[in-house]
This record gives sequence, structure tokens and C-alpha cells, in this order.
Amino acid sequence: MPNLKMNTLLVTAGRSERVSQGSVNPVIQRASSLVFSSVKAKKEAAKKRTNGALFYGRRGTLTHFALQDAMVALEGGAGCTLYPCGAAAVANSILSFVKSGDHVLMTGAAYEPSQDFCNIILKDMNISTTFYDPLIGAGIADLITPATKVVFMESPSSVTMEVQDIPAMVKAIRSVNPEVIIMIDNTWAAGILFKALEHDIDISIQAGTKYIVGHSDAMLGTAVANARCWDQLRERSYLMGQMVDADTAYVAARGLRTMAVRLKQHQESSIKIAHWLAARPEVERVNHPELPSCKGHEFYKRDFKGCNGLFSFVLKDKLSDAQLAEYLDNFHHFSMAYSWGGYESLILANQPEELNAIRPAGKVDFNGTLVRVHIGLEDCDDLIADLAAGFERLKN
Ligand SMILES: *Cc1c(COP(=O)(O)O)cnc(C)c1O
Repeated sequence: MPNLKMNTLLVTAGRSERVSQGSVNPVIQRASSLVFSSVKAKKEAAKKRTNGALFYGRRGTLTHFALQDAMVALEGGAGCTLYPCGAAAVANSILSFVKSGDHVLMTGAAYEPSQDFCNIILKDMNISTTFYDPLIGAGIADLITPATKVVFMESPSSVTMEVQDIPAMVKAIRSVNPEVIIMIDNTWAAGILFKALEHDIDISIQAGTKYIVGHSDAMLGTAVANARCWDQLRERSYLMGQMVDADTAYVAARGLRTMAVRLKQHQESSIKIAHWLAARPEVERVNHPELPSCKGHEFYKRDFKGCNGLFSFVLKDKLSDAQLAEYLDNFHHFSMAYSWGGYESLILANQPEELNAIRPAGKVDFNGTLVRVHIGLEDCDDLIADLAAGFERLKN
């Protein structure tokens, strides 16, 4: 299918006759054992087991193939591995390419468990990590040593939302050592708002838990790899037992069908609310990539095709524990919860010292409380009224 537009691909990708068997959606094929009709058929399946043959449940069934085909069509790689959650996708992608004595460069503003994975698991395996400032740009070249095997990016950063200058970073990394494996946690872009592989990144990782699933009811990780990395990523992930059940693969594939319209509404509402927040006297800064106040805004404008519902803002004041509880406990539409990417609005807050504790590089430059919101699909006016009432509560 030549050059289909993204919205069309989201509807059509991964719906071949083979996986849908005449229905609109893929079949849910729940299986551990897949039965071979003959010795010859078993031999054939073994030969093609890495390339779409039904072989054994851990290698995937038609439902998994549907989701994997769709992910490859969307992100443009050679193949897609599936994991039980986003954290597993991050951990196993890295583990597939490192050995004792290697060195990893990880963004210092990465999703916290990704950092912890380096500090705890990799460290015990004699693999060292250097955390870099997410805004380091071409300066990343200076941190590459002969032992550097993986450079890991995440853009925008979790919570603080700095957008990385990825083209400058990739160019600098490749000029020092073209063999380094470059990976990105591409969850915020849902794999489509930033086309990682088109920027010469080797592996694009997502917590499918977020916008792909889109309804806060399942967990999934995906990693789309280019031709250079696909065989190693697939075989090592397989050996580490990484797979997801067919039902989850099904709801993820179904989530893709509405992802474009969901993202469009998340984007429209979040931009409107970001501007509303920027005009509030209580707000010091809005970290929404669409706004110039967000660090790396110019890279977002250059490299991204759009945004979603997740951003943060910094208050002028640092709230006391009592103020924070009064503020957060009483929203009608914003629930307090981890994760994001579902249809509902969410809110969490962090004090600057809490953020610095999980920012080994790229310390924050503000003193007020940071609030992170996920703008859901509720009516924007209701959400603004809810946020306005929150500011009123802070006045008492
Ligand atoms: C949520 C998240 C993850 C982890 O995904 P899980 O499915 O919760 O394991 C990884 N990276 C980012 C950026 C996330 O937001």
C-alpha cells in the first residue's frame, strides 16, 4: 500500500484476510499449542517461525500478528516485539543489546522505572550508566566511550516535558560510532506524532498501555526495530520470555482504530487548557510542547506532527502539604492516578525537590509545585471550570 496517510493507516493496518478471516477485526486466537497437520508442516513452520508462521504461542498467534503488522505499518520498522507492559519493553530492549562491561547513556529525565532499571539491574550486571541532560543536543558525543553500546532517549521527558534535539543527537552519536544502538521511549508521541525510525533511531519503544490501548484497561509494551536490530531484538526478547496474551493484543489493535480521533481531541483540549493556564496569575510556567515556555519547544515544532493530552505546569508557590491535599483531593474530573493516555482526565503533583531526586541530570530550575495533568475527552469547559475551582481552593 503506497504512501497512505496516517489516519488511513490507523484504520487499515494489520487487517489482512489472514488475520481477520472475513470479519472486520482480527480473530482472537488464544493459544499455547498450535497444531501441525504433518511432519512436513511442522518443518515448514519451524523454518518460518520468525516470519509470520504459526509455531508456538510464545511466537504469537494471528491476533499478535495483526497488532505487530499494524505497528510496523505505523512506525515503519522491520518488525515489532510485544511485551506485557511498557516497563518490560524498555528493560528487554536494552537487555537485548548489552553485556557485562558495556556502557549505557540514559536521559536524566527518563521515566523513573527506566532510570531505576539502569541503577539496579544493569549495575548488578556490570553495565554502567551515565545519565545525560535531556537538552544536551550534540554534546552527547562527548559522553560516548568505546564501551557505549546503547543511547536511550525519551522525548518529551517524563513529567518535566523537555523536548530533545533528536536530529542533532543522532548525528553526533553516529559521527562518533555508527554502531551504537539508539533507542527512544516514544510513548508520548504514540509512535506516530514523532516518527523515530525516520530519524535514524534503531528502536522505538512504547508503553502501549497509554494511547494505543487508550481506555486504561490493559497493559502492553511495544518495540519497533529497524532491519539492523530486528533479528537480535526479536530472538533475545523471545528467549527472555516476552509476550502478551491474545486478548490484550486484540484490545490494543482495536485501540489503534480510534487513536487518531482521540489524539485530535486530546490535542485540541490540552492546547486550549495550556493557554488558559498560562494566563492564570497562579501559574509560573506551562510545560506544554506547543507553548514557547516549554523547553525544546522549537524542536517539537520542527520534529513532531502534533501533541496529546499530557503536560505539566509549575505554580508560583510551593504548596504546603495541607494546601496540596485541599487542592488535589477535591477535583471532580481530574482523578489522581499513575499512567495516562486513557479517555479520562488525571492529575498529579510533585515538589521540586521530589523531581530533582528523580532527575540525575537536568535538575529543575523552579521552586514552585509542579502539577502534571492528562487532559481527557471530557468537555473542555467542564475541565477548565474544575481547574479554576482548584485555584480558588488555594486562596483560602
Ligand atoms: C507509563 C510509561 C512507561 C511504562 O509503561 P507500563 O505499561 O506502565 O509499564 C514507560 N515509559 C513511559 C514514558 C511511560 O509513560
